[in-house]
Amino acid sequence: MKYYSTNNKQNTVGLKQAVLKSLPADKGLYMPERIGVLDPSFIDGMRRLTFQDIAFSVAQCILGDDIDDETLRGIINRSINFDAPVHHLTDTISTLELWHGPSLAFKDFGARFMAELMSYLVKDDKEQLSILVATSGDTGGAVAAGFFNVPNIDVTILYPKGKVSPLQELQLTTWGGNIRAIEVDGTFDDCQALVKGAFLDDDINQKQNLSSANSINIARLIPQSFYYFEAYKQRQDTSKELVFAVPSGNFGNLTAGLLAKRMGLPVNRFLAATNSNNIVPHYLATTSYEPRPSVQTIANAMDVGRPSNFSRMMDLYDNDWSRIKADIEGYYYDDEETRFAVKYIHKTYDYVADPHGAIGFLAAHQYLQDHSALQAIFLETAHPAKFLPVMEPLLGDIDIPEKLSDLRSKEKKADSLSKEFVEFKSYLLS
Ligand SMILES: *Cc1c(COP(=O)(O)O)cnc(C)c1O
Repeated sequence: MKYYSTNNKQNTVGLKQAVLKSLPADKGLYMPERIGVLDPSFIDGMRRLTFQDIAFSVAQCILGDDIDDETLRGIINRSINFDAPVHHLTDTISTLELWHGPSLAFKDFGARFMAELMSYLVKDDKEQLSILVATSGDTGGAVAAGFFNVPNIDVTILYPKGKVSPLQELQLTTWGGNIRAIEVDGTFDDCQALVKGAFLDDDINQKQNLSSANSINIARLIPQSFYYFEAYKQRQDTSKELVFAVPSGNFGNLTAGLLAKRMGLPVNRFLAATNSNNIVPHYLATTSYEPRPSVQTIANAMDVGRPSNFSRMMDLYDNDWSRIKADIEGYYYDDEETRFAVKYIHKTYDYVADPHGAIGFLAAHQYLQDHSALQAIFLETAHPAKFLPVMEPLLGDIDIPEKLSDLRSKEKKADSLSKEFVEFKSYLLS
């Protein structure tokens, strides 16, 4: 099957190029030309299926032409090897916990699946594939865990020295093997500039087969559709229609939900829930799209002022505001409201939600006040222990899962570089 660029539908490539090159030259984003639709009887029968069985059928809707069944099953069984449980808070509000993977954030779904898919796509190539990724925190940990020990691929992670949390740093720097970390004496933007420079450098490209684990890669989006089906399967009341509240930054998660709906999942509506970076809620309320520099909030994984997947959302609705508006409602909350929600959820339901999930809860709660015949599931996108400096002043001590606390006994291994490109270049070529 072909993948087209959202900037020009005539500009198409095959799966391998869409995944390994990540971005079309015209700076659009790749979209699948066709999205398969699942039979209603499949959806009604999901309660008898495992998450992996469901994921396999959903993946076939897009990848079925390019990947044989046995290979696709293998990719799913190795990458989606943890649960996505729904936890009920009230009769009508539940949360989908997406933090049961190795790095404790939903980004594990995309990163692990992409790692397995890339490994399959390069299996007959003679050259080793080298992934370069710059991270400000969460993405690097998920990518490292996803690509660790994947054959024929090595990963170089660049992070800004002293600007990621101590636990996040250990999630990047304790792997060894095919994963190496570089602490750059600079900012996240400097790290990104080094990665970009490498992609544009002839000497490096002649010697190495480079690829990126960028968040706009279509391979990261596809597996995020799986858990919307898994959540629907676990909904508490089969007589009520379902809305999903999605805490959003770059809108990959929400776009994956829209794909799930295209594949036949009965979703009444999606709630686009943001922090003060309310570009998309503003668009939905006014028809006017006004990207702007992001502002810092306590839900910092959603501090995005120019949401990269917006062009995919527009593409799915042929740029028609009224059609988008029929499927998506926008909500946004400031830090004070977010802190209130974290405390409220804890006090009222004895549940610890992280700041991103708490924003999803607020949207779900607000929407149900006007739509009492519905039920809502909000996505809990990361484990609260990843945000101790925000959580502990609100709730006191937070339980730290072993996956995080075990890291404290491991040794950090990182190379140090300045932000000068010449130095990075000779490092890559040596
Ligand atoms: C990345 C991230 C988000 C935002 O997801 P998008 O797909 O970019 O909208 C939300 N919460 C957490 C914890 C994240 O790491």
